[in-house]
Amino acid sequence: MDRADIVVLGTFVADLAFKAERLPVVGETLLGQGFAMGPGGKGSNQVIAAARAGARSAMITRVGQDSFGDMARQTWSRDGVDTSHVLIDEAAPTGAAFIFVSSRTGDNAIIIESGAAANLSPADVRAAEGLISGARVFVTQFEQPIETAIEGLRLARGHGVTTILNPAPALPVDDAIYVNCDFVTPNETEAATLTGIDTATDEGALQAAASLVRRGARNALITLGAKGALLHGEAGTHFVPAFKVTKVVDTTGAGDAFNGGFAVAIAEGRNPVDAVRFGAAVAALSVQKPGTAPSMPTRADIDAFIR
Ligand code: ADP
Repeated sequence: MDRADIVVLGTFVADLAFKAERLPVVGETLLGQGFAMGPGGKGSNQVIAAARAGARSAMITRVGQDSFGDMARQTWSRDGVDTSHVLIDEAAPTGAAFIFVSSRTGDNAIIIESGAAANLSPADVRAAEGLISGARVFVTQFEQPIETAIEGLRLARGHGVTTILNPAPALPVDDAIYVNCDFVTPNETEAATLTGIDTATDEGALQAAASLVRRGARNALITLGAKGALLHGEAGTHFVPAFKVTKVVDTTGAGDAFNGGFAVAIAEGRNPVDAVRFGAAVAALSVQKPGTAPSMPTRADIDAFIR
């Protein structure tokens, strides 16, 4: 592929989920009640969501030379994601997450290791400048080093590419990062962590959004789970409700589905409110299926759903 409309800088992580009656305690070995392995990582989930929603999409990341790296490449190639800027790191493993789930309470305990993606550097991003400059939308998160995300946003913005920062996991950042964000898209917990404002109420969420805009973002777009999303900034102030879903199967990755879908709609030139609705539709479809990347809907599914 010579050009991509959506470029995502982020991580791939192999998700390894173990179910047992309860979480193990220190020093204990438990017999499991089930195991599932699948592709994860916010960046990878978002690029899959975008590719399935119909955009030419590319991934910038690092994976190791191992079987999880093979899993990553198979995941992307199935959906036609451009991997010309996926670097193979011979010195580090592909990212992986161990997820322990209690079958009794649903509680979980997780260790995520970004592996090779922790070595993603600003120089890696500069090496992809040609790819980034030709895109319509650039998307990144905080699972790889923050200075790498900052470099991507700066480069993309410098080329007039619309930028989306999904600040997850929420980490303390210098406000200077927001100046290069057209849209900053935390969920309500991340928005609270980033701003120190309680986002449990609509007024709180609006105050948090206003705080992100004051720090320099053109727009804040806070997702509020089943309630929907709040868009605030140059695009005005809009509470956009979520689609009603009667049978929610698995909300893991809802935010990734939303971000991928939103990016596609912005790349297609839709206005931001319509793009939020499109992202919400992608997320509403994804929560009706198990898994993260495998639950992302196709464009045909999305068009049939919003028609
Ligand atoms: P995250 O997965 O990052 O925590 P949210 O929970 O805020 O993100 O969800 C992101 C978006 O996904 C929401 O704005 C909404 O549009 C959609 N969504 C999430 N949960 C549901 C649900 N139960 N029903 C319908 N849509 C949902």
